[in-house]
Amino acid sequence: MADDKLWVCIDCGARQATEGACQTCRHDLTLDTRDPKVRELMHDVDLRLSQRREGRARMIGVALGMAAIFGLWLVPGYWHLRGRLYPGLPMFIDQWIFMALIGFGVSKLLEKKLGKKRFPYLDQNHQIVG
Ligand SMILES: [Zn+2]
Repeated sequence: MADDKLWVCIDCGARQATEGACQTCRHDLTLDTRDPKVRELMHDVDLRLSQRREGRARMIGVALGMAAIFGLWLVPGYWHLRGRLYPGLPMFIDQWIFMALIGFGVSKLLEKKLGKKRFPYLDQNHQIVG
């Protein structure tokens, strides 16, 4: 535990030794990490940020999945190939499955890439580590 940096900025996640304005982002206020309520707030902020990232990643994934499949439909010979490589499924279910797989893959990849926490030094039990 970094005992010398007890004050945290909710806006940018920087920690510092002295109370008052954040020295990193100039936010007016830093909070005392010894207060359990402050650590709970930090946890909530990270949770909300990760939910927003997940939602955004999912939307991008769905959009890219649809664009990829609709794009394939325009490729000459695609429908012919679909009939020859595999019979295809009724109601274009195979197309929907491809779309979902691409969307899922893209959103998981994005979540991993963008999954940076504001307070990486806060553990699951709201304790400051490192
Ligand atoms: Zn700050």
